[in-house]
Amino acid sequence: MKIKTFRRIAQTATLIAIFLIPLLNVFELYFIKGTFYSMDIGDAAIADPLAVFQSMLASGTINPYMIGSLIIPIALMLLLGRVWCSWFCPYYFIAEMMEKLRKLMRMKPFKPQYTDSYPHKQAKYRYLFLLVGLLVMSVIGVPILNLISAPGIISSQALVLVKFGYVTFELVFVAVLVFLELFYYRWWCRLFCPTGTFLSFFRMKRGMTVRKVADECSNCLTCVRTCPMMINPMTMGESGHCNNCGDCVDACPDNRKKDTLKFTFR
Ligand code: SF4
Ligand code: SF4
Repeated sequence: MKIKTFRRIAQTATLIAIFLIPLLNVFELYFIKGTFYSMDIGDAAIADPLAVFQSMLASGTINPYMIGSLIIPIALMLLLGRVWCSWFCPYYFIAEMMEKLRKLMRMKPFKPQYTDSYPHKQAKYRYLFLLVGLLVMSVIGVPILNLISAPGIISSQALVLVKFGYVTFELVFVAVLVFLELFYYRWWCRLFCPTGTFLSFFRMKRGMTVRKVADECSNCLTCVRTCPMMINPMTMGESGHCNNCGDCVDACPDNRKKDTLKFTFR
């Protein structure tokens, strides 16, 4: 079975969960509560590391609850890489659906030409965007990057919708991002998203990684053309830019003959 099939199951379950969790809360079942900014599952707290970092900066304090809420997301990053993005983030799922819609409408998005230096160039935009956001945040003392966290907004809007029956203006921001996906190839995740960029700092060379396991391959570059992050899967699988979606592994034609591009653990 293709990796994408498992990914779709995880993405669909996540999408259902962001509506189901507040619904359970409406019926006073509170074992699990919260949004993708911060969530409690039983006694375990899980928070978006960027949201926690901003709280620490804004308040100038670090408390044990904040540190505890980072354990699960950071452990996941160390063990499985940036699977949060491609397997669970609702924005990523929507962006993939927009890609399907675009293909259906036979629209051609703007997609930069891949070169060996391009992945580093696009990473610079993301780092710069995050840095500017953190600087502005430090000056005004408001965690503004939370206001542009696509997964945070989607999950909190789902909560507001289920609990109160309406959505707020924040959803317009996500709607604009989604609309622009029609015209510019995977632009938000590749070039701007501060949530994904901050997570990528916790990517280590160990853990689950896409790797070329055969010395030779037909060098067809199908994996490079397939990669939604526009990186070279044969050389950059262990970088923080890879989100372990597995699309390159699914697409590699050589994998049908012998193991060539695979997920490995080390
Ligand atoms: S980069 Fe941001 S929006 Fe994209 S998948 Fe990751 S967290 Fe979600
Ligand atoms: S290198 Fe492969 S696993 Fe990583 S983001 Fe690109 S397609 Fe997905």
